[in-house]
Amino acid sequence: MKPIQIHDKNFEVYIDRDKIQQAVSSLAQQLKKDLKGERPLFISILNGAFIFAADFIRAYKSECEITFIKLASYEKTKSSGKVKQLLGINEDLTDRTIIVLEDIIDTGTTLQEIYKILGEEKVKDLKIVSLFFKPEVFKKELHIDYVAFEIPDNFIVGYGLDYDGLGRNLPDIYKLSK
Ligand code: 5GP
Ligand code: MG
Repeated sequence: MKPIQIHDKNFEVYIDRDKIQQAVSSLAQQLKKDLKGERPLFISILNGAFIFAADFIRAYKSECEITFIKLASYEKTKSSGKVKQLLGINEDLTDRTIIVLEDIIDTGTTLQEIYKILGEEKVKDLKIVSLFFKPEVFKKELHIDYVAFEIPDNFIVGYGLDYDGLGRNLPDIYKLSK
């Protein structure tokens, strides 16, 4: 597939749509098995995780609910180190099985904020699912339950992930060309 340009940068295909779909389906099946008949409330972290969440819940063949929280930490292609909460949760999380659906965990700053927000609630169970994880950059001692792809410290776009607002609609995952 051809390289593409977004704003001032060039990107090349890194993980194609079929591979993503396979990974999302097997994650959903694994979760269903591990949750043993619980009715989970999925919390998708906007904006980046919206496409992953949409595919994930359609692959999750059991009763479930979904809600959204909007957090932002990235500025262009770097983590700003601060997390802003732009939209909160209205649901009562007491005694619920909460499954967080995140697009990508990089430094872990966002994940720390998620644990802080959800730590104030009396949930029954809390699990973290992330489509992508960059172990080389992760700086926190925080638990991550499920990861579909461990990737090196590359900046990626597509499948919901953006570069300065663009690229979320790309069906495949692209990485920054060297
Ligand atoms: P962290 O707080 O772990 O440093 O970063 C998490 C958030 O930063 C992700 O939810 C995502 O929105 C954004 N992010 C981290 N790495 C990347 C990347 O490679 N590409 C894009 N587009 N966003 C990223
Ligand atoms: Mg995110």
